[in-house]
Amino acid sequence: LIELGQPEHSVITTCAYCGVGCSFKAEMKGTTVVRMVPHKDGGANEGHSCVKGRFAWGYATHADRQTQPMIRESIDDPWRTVSWEEAITYAATRLRAVQQKYGRGSIGGITSSRCTNEEVYVVQKMIRAAFGNNNVDTCARVCHSPTGYGLKQTFGTSAGTQDFKSVDKSDVILVIGANPTDGHPVFGSRMKKRLRQGAKLIVIDPRRIDLVRSPHVSATHHLQLRPGTNVAAMNALAHVIVTEELVDRNFVADRCDPMEFARWEAFVRDPRHSPENTEQYTGIPAAEMRAAARLYATGGNAAIYYGLGVTEHSQGSTAVMGMANLAMATGNIGRDGVGVNPLRGQNNVQGSCDMGSFPHELTGYRHVSDDVVRQQFEEVWNAALDPEPGLRIPNMFDSAVDGTFMGLFVQGEDIAQSDPNTQHVFAALRAMEIVVVQDLFLNETAAFAHVFLPGTSFLEKDGTFTNAERRINRVRPVMPSKTGKQEWEVVCDLATAMGYPMFYRSGAQIMDEIARLTPTFSGVSFEKLDRVGSVQWPCTDEDSVGTPIMHADGFVREGKASQGRFMITEYVPTEERASRFYPLILTTGRILSHYNVGAQTRRTANVAWHPEDILEVHAHDAEERGIRDGDLVSIASRIGATTLRARISDRMPQGVVYTTFHHPVTGANVVTTENSDWATNCPEYKVTAVQVTLSNHP
Ligand code: SF4
Repeated sequence: LIELGQPEHSVITTCAYCGVGCSFKAEMKGTTVVRMVPHKDGGANEGHSCVKGRFAWGYATHADRQTQPMIRESIDDPWRTVSWEEAITYAATRLRAVQQKYGRGSIGGITSSRCTNEEVYVVQKMIRAAFGNNNVDTCARVCHSPTGYGLKQTFGTSAGTQDFKSVDKSDVILVIGANPTDGHPVFGSRMKKRLRQGAKLIVIDPRRIDLVRSPHVSATHHLQLRPGTNVAAMNALAHVIVTEELVDRNFVADRCDPMEFARWEAFVRDPRHSPENTEQYTGIPAAEMRAAARLYATGGNAAIYYGLGVTEHSQGSTAVMGMANLAMATGNIGRDGVGVNPLRGQNNVQGSCDMGSFPHELTGYRHVSDDVVRQQFEEVWNAALDPEPGLRIPNMFDSAVDGTFMGLFVQGEDIAQSDPNTQHVFAALRAMEIVVVQDLFLNETAAFAHVFLPGTSFLEKDGTFTNAERRINRVRPVMPSKTGKQEWEVVCDLATAMGYPMFYRSGAQIMDEIARLTPTFSGVSFEKLDRVGSVQWPCTDEDSVGTPIMHADGFVREGKASQGRFMITEYVPTEERASRFYPLILTTGRILSHYNVGAQTRRTANVAWHPEDILEVHAHDAEERGIRDGDLVSIASRIGATTLRARISDRMPQGVVYTTFHHPVTGANVVTTENSDWATNCPEYKVTAVQVTLSNHP
């Protein structure tokens, strides 16, 4: 305050980082941010914030920001700064040239969960209407795509069931594959408050996260399972619930498909799913598993919160369905204090999925092959749309290496750092004839780009983010765009140059079109958000602020209007196994001070608190290898190798090592494999067989 002076005015906007979606007051002097203060009326945070959010604005004005469009013929050439017009014309000409040479389906794009709903919407529209195909995918492919699939199959809606406040009414909290105090700190604090009030905690995680044992909070049960065995654990819990007659028969009879329930009940009743028989896979003592199942089923309101430790597996979608089965079987759905809740990593993962970023779905999760739905879009967009689903991100990479997918538009994502099997991603990007990157910084992906279109930070955007509780929050510009344009304007210019005229006057006008075409958003407008603060979809009429708790009166599955669907969840072990050459299992996660690949937090004060990724190694595994705390170690998988600093830790069981992925130098994804979820291709980041050795290299 002393250095920057007293603020003169303030603007209410939304945090740029995690899926909690905290509301902040940006206190300004002219166009300079003096400080960011958590907004007491913020629906998601009620005046709280974390260290990431408070310092987020630092990256918006960092010297690395690129504000001029740039082009180059080849990735070996130096960048050349050009006008917006020249950059757009150049990008459009090269994208068109690729289509003429290789066909309409040879180009596509990736949307970003860090961008607003309006920005994502226009990118997917450009790809479907101007590129003329459905080759659009989102970075949610590599995080929560199994959530979208699994919850849609069971509950009918690809979203979490509760608002954050709901946890205040929980008696039992089951946290699986998530680390809320680091990944979602404001919600993690709310959860801890409820635990201090007496709620019971079950943690299912290979790592001893802080919630398991921290001041004033400890887990009643920590089921420290082996990485990759979530589904076996879900089935064991279900087996206990069914065989010990803990099923809520009234709920199931009233709310669920009886045939599907009968099939599921017979499946999980099979003794092969008992805690005693699954212990050999999960490593969880049978008595502990039985006690946790009884607590979840009989302890009062029981809520499940989960993260990427569930989804980023070869059976990510199966595990999501397994959790939904548990909630329905025990009647823990459709009211305060219960439910199944994905903790979303990026601020707009929910929104980017809602906005039609998947290659098979238009906005609101409606399939592109649905003639009635497609016709609605065709009329409003004045364009013929392809009824065939397009390519997913991994298929784009594979097709690039095969020489059939040769042009890519990347919106605000660093696929070269964040996607698995880095060398394969590099090969795919190198093979493409045109890569267009729209971003704040020349990130790792931009090293492979031919056109760089500078983006806007959250402090310059005019739009909305949708958080993990389906809450649509306004993102307001607190300073003028450093590029002179909003990102959606640039995308419209590119679509127009490609031959499909696209124009909007404002973010508000884009939202009006979204609301017109998306039933769950039909009651949303900027005017309403400015008036009431935020709304939670489904929000279908002008007077409503939406739906804090889903499935209160019935599930919304198409065709089976109100019945939840139990799904069979056969456990299939991952192909990734520890071996003689790679005897340890690597799993990955986040820390409090950093956000995802660190492109933003590494350019804020946060970097000082955690300047490098660290490999946590169990003392026994370290001793066997002669590794001491602080040593540099080489970590190698069948895919690649990198170097990290080791920390001896008792958080991991013997045989399992752990690291984060916030720094490009150490690049954890150099070693992660091509394995992925059977239903969605979400990468199996959480299980990689590795060897760790003392490194000779500084
Ligand atoms: Fe809130 Fe997440 Fe931002 Fe922290 S990083 S202030 S918890 S939205």
